[in-house]
Amino acid sequence: MKKKQSLILKKGGRITQEAVKKIVKKVAVSKKGIKISTTILPDHHFKLVKVKRGLAGLGLFAGENIKKGELIIEYIGEILNKEEAEKVSTNQYLFEVNRNKTINGQVRWNIARYCNHACEEAANAESEIKKGRIFIKATKNIKVGEEIVYDYGEEFVNEHIAPYGCRCVAKEHSYKAKKPVVGSL
Ligand SMILES: [Zn+2]
Repeated sequence: MKKKQSLILKKGGRITQEAVKKIVKKVAVSKKGIKISTTILPDHHFKLVKVKRGLAGLGLFAGENIKKGELIIEYIGEILNKEEAEKVSTNQYLFEVNRNKTINGQVRWNIARYCNHACEEAANAESEIKKGRIFIKATKNIKVGEEIVYDYGEEFVNEHIAPYGCRCVAKEHSYKAKKPVVGSL
């Protein structure tokens, strides 16, 4: 059976309605200073983030300074068991939590899906699985306006990124990824 993880978050989530109101206000203020196209924000983020054009299509950007080690956003979606996950045809957004739990993040309310890949050297975040939930956590200090990127891992990169070339800013790309051939895309 598919379950919306947002229901679970309402019980265990750290974001209160009060916090959500604050965040909305903050965005309105920052709109004056920084030019942004903003998508705000279901209640699964811990830091102010924005969605706009990045290195590889739409990306997730820091809406405030984020310190190394801080949680940024939770990767949410439909919770699938092994059997259900095997039936999903577009597997780009599947995130395996454990042997029998996979999150399909291909839902509009999962803003974390905009977080693009970067190879190890250029990544400023990482994914972390904790108590059956997936979080994106800063591995460096991230300044407001910087794109938030993490290493998607060898299997994903070799299957989905390497064939087209990797557009992250690393000089040395990880796994089988290389720069895109000039002229493509
Ligand atoms: Zn790369």
